[in-house]
Amino acid sequence: MDFGLTEEEAEFRAELRSWLATTLPRLPPKPSPDDWPGRRAYDTHWQRLLYDAGYAHLHWEAAPGLRLVFLEETELAGAPYVGANFVGLLHAGPTIAAEGTPEQRERWLGPILRGDEIWCQGFSEPDAGSDLASLRTRAVRDGDDYLVTGSKIWTSHAEIADWCELLVRTDPDAHRHRGISWLALPMDAPGITVRPLRTLAGTAEFAEVFLDEVRVPVANRVGAENDGWRVTMVTLSFERGTAFVGEVVACRRTLAALAVRARENGRWDDPALRRRLGRLHTEFTALWRLTQWNVSEARAGGGVPGPGGSVFKLRYSGARQELYEAAAEVLGPDALDLDREWAVDRLSALSYTIAAGTSQIQRNIIAERLLGLPKGGA
Ligand SMILES: Cc1cc2nc3c(=O)[nH]c(=O)nc-3n(C[C@H](O)[C@H](O)[C@H](O)COP(=O)(O)OP(=O)(O)OC[C@H]3O[C@@H](n4cnc5c(N)ncnc54)[C@H](O)[C@@H]3O)c2cc1C
Repeated sequence: MDFGLTEEEAEFRAELRSWLATTLPRLPPKPSPDDWPGRRAYDTHWQRLLYDAGYAHLHWEAAPGLRLVFLEETELAGAPYVGANFVGLLHAGPTIAAEGTPEQRERWLGPILRGDEIWCQGFSEPDAGSDLASLRTRAVRDGDDYLVTGSKIWTSHAEIADWCELLVRTDPDAHRHRGISWLALPMDAPGITVRPLRTLAGTAEFAEVFLDEVRVPVANRVGAENDGWRVTMVTLSFERGTAFVGEVVACRRTLAALAVRARENGRWDDPALRRRLGRLHTEFTALWRLTQWNVSEARAGGGVPGPGGSVFKLRYSGARQELYEAAAEVLGPDALDLDREWAVDRLSALSYTIAAGTSQIQRNIIAERLLGLPKGGA
């Protein structure tokens, strides 16, 4: 694979770089992590700026090279990442683009790209995480609506979301993979209760969501009734395959900053630490190459990423944890002070081997779908 830039990509890089240089200094100050309305306003403002400048679609339709240049340049310039737009932009939107009707694409894709509407993901339930097909939230047909009752857990950004990509059981008697449907749930519908959950890092990133006979139009179903498991696989392949790729560049930036800090505070004299940082540098460089390959493969395969995304997810989430462990070595006791740089990132890195499917589940997928090993018993 050729990793060099084409003429078009090189021109695009220069143009984007100059746009970022004039736009970023005019951004308002970043809100505090617990200021949810502030975070929503900040993230959607950034998305709108991208949209107005003609860059918002780059996560979706652009040639893979342009998309990667976009991710690299925005991250290197210290631009905001997708933030509260994560679900809409990186997996609900791409799922609707791939599986939705023309009316559904017309209704939801524009507002996601413009930053007008925020999405969350209602997949996990108290007894259905890794074993997602055991979900029990049920949807019963009532005329042109479904009446949805049940509960979801770990729903990131539920407090500020307008829509939720929701998995429901529409046929309780069918085989557990065959009775599921994928719905777009309006988060302001009567019967929804959102209860925030506070994490180790002190913020309430996610929530429990309780649904009591919530009315959802049948027209909000993406894919056929009871075909939601297949649609879910599309969503998960975007979530694992491409949603985290921009963060690799952020990790490379943090690593470079760590090396600078280690030189300043004398930790650089420790050869074991230098080796550790060197190994991480190699790891993140390899992950970026893997990303380039995954994104190109997805494009060649019709836009939906393949199981190679599980290799990325597995290695990336492990490397991210190692990065922040190395940060703790460089910082010493300051790493325990949550007001210090990198301390909260270190705590949140722990969640990356769980969110979007645990590392054990990624290993199962790699074993079965890439290596062709026999299916596990669970
Ligand atoms: C920060 C964060 C954000 C999240 N955001 C969302 C969100 O927005 N929306 C949403 O729906 N969910 C979200 N989740 C939930 C996440 O997808 C689940 O936590 C995850 O899928 C694991 O499910 P579980 O917690 O029920 O663990 P379990 O499935 O109970 O697993 C417990 C342990 O058993 C292991 N295990 C289970 N089955 C197997 C198997 N077959 N083989 C080997 N090992 C196995 C798991 O790997 C894990 O170590 C989020 C989670 C985190 C941490």
